[in-house]
Amino acid sequence: MLINFGGIEPISFIEYPKLSSTVLFLRGCNFNCKYCYNKEITTGHDCRSILDIIHVLDNMMEYVSALVISGGEPTLQPKVIKELAVYYKEKGKKIGLYTNGSNPNVIKQLLNNNLIDFVSLDIKTIWINYKSDFGGDWQCIKKTLDILNEYKKENNDFIFRLVHPVYDENIKEAVEIMIKLLGFEIEFKQLI
Ligand code: SF4
Repeated sequence: MLINFGGIEPISFIEYPKLSSTVLFLRGCNFNCKYCYNKEITTGHDCRSILDIIHVLDNMMEYVSALVISGGEPTLQPKVIKELAVYYKEKGKKIGLYTNGSNPNVIKQLLNNNLIDFVSLDIKTIWINYKSDFGGDWQCIKKTLDILNEYKKENNDFIFRLVHPVYDENIKEAVEIMIKLLGFEIEFKQLI
């Protein structure tokens, strides 16, 4: 199997809550965020064999407790996530996923197979602005949110975190209200 590879951060102490992790970035994204913080890996191809990537990851995973898969948008490569998650969960590692929430069915399948321990979901904006400002379908994001919420109710140890990258103070306030009305908390990430 091939990975459209974006990069590796060998050791991080902030990407997985309270655990050290290695972060794998998968290339390619289906959104068009004007402030994109990983622009260089949202397009193009750098296809590598998954075995070569596992070989590189294995050297780092000895020293950390979790693998975090980020992007780009990692759910565009669901088989890659699944294969890595199966492999590293067997080795006792936790698996984290950073997503824009655009592929609820992929998230659902991963959760149903108990392959993900932590999800960080970006809430980019208020629902009405999703299409025009980010090129995304808000209904998919809402569906992902509902799936995560349902899963959390039955899986106490599962962690999910909502994050809003702040690009406009007015939107920040509106997002906070929207998410509170849905019964969730949200964290804010200041864009540099
Ligand atoms: S979802 Fe993330 S990777 Fe994709 S364009 Fe937006 S900020 Fe960039």
